Amino acid sequence: MWTKDFKTSRIKDNNILSKCEIEGLIEELYTIGIKSIYFCGGEPFLRKDFLDIVKYCKSKGLYCSTISNGYLINSDLAKQIVISGIDSIGISIDSANKELHDEIRGFEGAFDHAIEGIRLIKQKQKEYNTDFPEIFINTTISSKNFFFLPAITDLAKSLAVRRINFNYLSIVDHNTVKLTNQEMGEKIIGFHTFSDISPEYLLQKEHIDQLESVIENIKKRGGSEIKCDLDQALLSGNKDHLLKGKFSVLRCNTPWLSAMITPFGDVVPCAMFTGYKMGNVREMSFRKIWNNKRAMNMRRLLRKNLPPLCQKCCMVHRGTPSLWKRFYKKFLKRDSHDQR
Ligand code: SF4
Repeated sequence: MWTKDFKTSRIKDNNILSKCEIEGLIEELYTIGIKSIYFCGGEPFLRKDFLDIVKYCKSKGLYCSTISNGYLINSDLAKQIVISGIDSIGISIDSANKELHDEIRGFEGAFDHAIEGIRLIKQKQKEYNTDFPEIFINTTISSKNFFFLPAITDLAKSLAVRRINFNYLSIVDHNTVKLTNQEMGEKIIGFHTFSDISPEYLLQKEHIDQLESVIENIKKRGGSEIKCDLDQALLSGNKDHLLKGKFSVLRCNTPWLSAMITPFGDVVPCAMFTGYKMGNVREMSFRKIWNNKRAMNMRRLLRKNLPPLCQKCCMVHRGTPSLWKRFYKKFLKRDSHDQR
């Protein structure tokens, strides 16, 4: 389902922001009161100085989190992860069954690497006598793994992981891209938004018929030990939406609360609208970009009407407002912990 070769499908290094440029940017973000940075991929550990950047963020007291496939985490990297002070790290595991996980991820050994990555970080936490980072399992729900989801709670218990995020697959097809660009009057879908995943990976009727019992089973097996964050899409139980992978959206507050900065320094409204460049941090300050005409224009358009792409956006079907509420609560708690 995912890329078969994540190591070679990486963005070309030409012109990506240097560590020095990123530190300058972090300095500005800190000065204007940003509290939290989420490093999304691809695979963050492909960038060799990633943890140096995390350390810099932590020296400013910023909350930092990321998600990894765990493939590159060896003993030394696990140690560096713990030392870096990163607050939370999600490891992608799509099945407790090794063969199925490897099949979904597209390469042999993916499961063993992910499990080993978690074990090594846990081991280093003990050595350094710390609970940080919080490790959670990040699971993408698809037709492939649906009936096997409850077993991931047992795997989490065996690894002493206390949280699993179950997210429904988000598929952005050609037609949605075309309609969105038409509606917004320009090409707002940029690199890595389009996901060439077959619709057969969306839940099918036989899965939807068992939806309640699978959810019940996940909750029962997770018990009080494992916090299972189930995608709002599943909890809503709207069969039609789940079958089509398309959700009704009235409002999204993401471009008012956050922005995404690409590896090349472009500031875009969110992880899906990567073609809508509001400015580049090499050319002007983040504060100026955040308040400029293009940024305002995007928010104005979104206030009027959300384009078709938004119906397929995982930020929305996960339930953005509650997600943000939980997120803020969490890093503010950590903030006060750091200041003690
Ligand atoms: S719904 Fe998704 S794609 Fe649409 S504005 Fe919100 S975050 Fe961006």
